[in-house]
Amino acid sequence: MVFRSAGTLYFIFSMPYHITLPCFFHSFFFLLILVNMTPNFAHIYQNVSEVLDKIQACAEMNHRHAAEIELEIAIKTRSATEALHAGLALEASGRRALLAHNRVQEAQATTPILRDGPLSSFHSVLIGNLQRNKINAAVRVFDEIESVDSLALARALSQRLDPTEQLPIMLQVNTSRELSKSGLVPEVALETALEIADLPGLLVTGFMTIGAHTTDQALIGKSFANLRAIRDEAIKHPSLKKAINLSMGMSSDFELAIAEGSTRIRIGNAVFGPRL
Ligand SMILES: *Cc1c(COP(=O)(O)O)cnc(C)c1O
Repeated sequence: MVFRSAGTLYFIFSMPYHITLPCFFHSFFFLLILVNMTPNFAHIYQNVSEVLDKIQACAEMNHRHAAEIELEIAIKTRSATEALHAGLALEASGRRALLAHNRVQEAQATTPILRDGPLSSFHSVLIGNLQRNKINAAVRVFDEIESVDSLALARALSQRLDPTEQLPIMLQVNTSRELSKSGLVPEVALETALEIADLPGLLVTGFMTIGAHTTDQALIGKSFANLRAIRDEAIKHPSLKKAINLSMGMSSDFELAIAEGSTRIRIGNAVFGPRL
């Protein structure tokens, strides 16, 4: 309720005065209804709640706790206002506003409304390729980077970070070995993770992958199981004992990922509708 009200106020102040002024003469509840029923955004709240229900059901089926599976919303190509409502929907469901971008520029564009708006738990994540010339901007705008896919990139990040602090990162692994995907080759993931774990300014909190691009459920499941096996080996090493997270599963395959131990699913289409 608190989150909804904050979102409502923010929304009102972003509207032109000829709309908001007359509205202030009506009751606050009228405004609440007005905003929550705005056709452009109501589906976001509905869809977030449906995805959370599915997480719950799928967790139960696999004898897991839904609370240990984070819902991260992938903002890719959506407007800042859509992103804001996705964050508000997460907070209204008692979860943190875990929002991910594919590109640095996109995050820079949404940051004013997400960081300085009504969200109280905004956590900004990069899930896309990071180019070397964007590193300075990236460390300013993201709280976490899930797409670290080489030792060279980790070193470049480390050099720009305050060694007394730790930026949470995950290591992206190309478990499906598709040429179109970035990520560490599975065979070198562990040794690379061990080298990265020694770099100042970074904290390896887990591993990320994108499931195989196929309709073959068994193959998709295999890529997720592969990531889990890498994680299971990694956390045996003291320097990687915090690398417990598995970011895997998207709109089309998150149930398979939860079955294979995912601790964070990244959802775009199932929340916002198909990309145009
Ligand atoms: C777009 C994207 C997602 C979300 O995919 P949907 O199919 O829209 O749920 C997840 N992870 C990454 C890396 C993405 O680029």
